[in-house]
Amino acid sequence: MYPAQFEYHTPGTMKEALDLLGRHKDDAKLLAGGHSLLPAMKLRLAQPKHLVDLRKVSGLSGIKEEGGTLVIGAMTTHYQVESSAVVKSKCPVLAAVAAQIGDPMVRNMGTIGGSLAHADPAADYPAAIIALGAEMVAEGPKGKRTIKADDFFKGLLTTALAEDEILTEVRVPALAAKTGAAYMKFPHPASRFAVVGVAAVLSVDGGKVGKASVGITGAGTKAVRAKGVEAAITGKGTDAASIQAAAEKAAEGVDVQADLQGSVEYKSHLLRVFAKRAMEAAAAAVGQAAAPGRRAADRAPRGRGRPGRGSRPGAGRHRTCARSDRGGAGRSRGTDRRESDPRGRTGWLRARRHRRAAGNRGHRADRAG
Ligand SMILES: Cc1cc2nc3c(=O)[nH]c(=O)nc-3n(C[C@H](O)[C@H](O)[C@H](O)COP(=O)(O)OP(=O)(O)OC[C@H]3O[C@@H](n4cnc5c(N)ncnc54)[C@H](O)[C@@H]3O)c2cc1C
Repeated sequence: MYPAQFEYHTPGTMKEALDLLGRHKDDAKLLAGGHSLLPAMKLRLAQPKHLVDLRKVSGLSGIKEEGGTLVIGAMTTHYQVESSAVVKSKCPVLAAVAAQIGDPMVRNMGTIGGSLAHADPAADYPAAIIALGAEMVAEGPKGKRTIKADDFFKGLLTTALAEDEILTEVRVPALAAKTGAAYMKFPHPASRFAVVGVAAVLSVDGGKVGKASVGITGAGTKAVRAKGVEAAITGKGTDAASIQAAAEKAAEGVDVQADLQGSVEYKSHLLRVFAKRAMEAAAAAVGQAAAPGRRAADRAPRGRGRPGRGSRPGAGRHRTCARSDRGGAGRSRGTDRRESDPRGRTGWLRARRHRRAAGNRGHRADRAG
């Protein structure tokens, strides 16, 4: 498939890019990594007459730390986030999320700004961005403004960005002391998009959760905060029973939608399973490990709406990340890049070993908690 004809522009500055957007209005589209826009254009789902390529616009890419906040340029690729020393040190869960996106080609081309502006309901970053309390900076003809993650995702492929605005940077607070974070997703076996994904950030002191922030993706038309889970775990311990009870609230107040990946019932079940796993992992990362527990309640109702190949090694893989109050630099438990690719040799071997150890119980989310 070929896209419809368009005029291609390569501005070198933000002013030029904004002028082009202002001049061509609805007929213009911004191009970042092209990994969502170009497929849409080839399918004629998008037919912009003008394509404004942001790759030559100076100052839109790169990562720095400013007073406890990571400032990530919108054109920073997923791979740059994944491999950034400062992200790994200050907010390792974000690097871990980036490492789980698609495949190496997608991660080398796709950008954090493109992913957030596209607002795919199954994208990985949005859950983490909400849980981490990030802010988006947008620039338009009237200047710059900041949008909180909670206010950014408006609906299916829709954000708070105006048509004449460009997302310029994402500001992510560094993880606070005694805070653990984890992102767990049930990846689609082909694309690796999240069938559901849950990011949990838990601040734990003296065995009690002081603050909980949980974002979910994949369940409905947009990423949302899991308010029921947050309320249920705040003030509670990180023991298995408290986490299980809070995870049961994962679908509460969430407009879960049935789609090709599963029924409402099945996706609600996945939310509960992955909320539990994300909180367990976040608690473990901050040194307050929840006792592992698997319950019959984690099992999916049989027979309806499951993705067909969920037993693939790597399904439901996760990363845990924490900054302790001792070292400050944080640590990242979990897997390295090769292991994160279930098609990679290491991933397969690990999965096989794990299956053997588990008596070939398999990896399906419907069999595990
Ligand atoms: C095979 C495949 C597998 C994938 N798997 C995953 C996955 O597992 N998880 C996941 O999260 N994603 C996945 N993706 C999507 C990928 O992460 C894309 O890179 C991302 O969604 C879009 O980023 P982009 O830089 O390519 O943006 P583009 O495709 O260039 O743009 C996307 C949209 O955002 C707009 N836009 C871009 N930049 C800006 C900006 N700075 N300001 C305002 N608007 C802007 C564009 O106009 C366009 O409408 C996958 C994609 C493919 C092709």
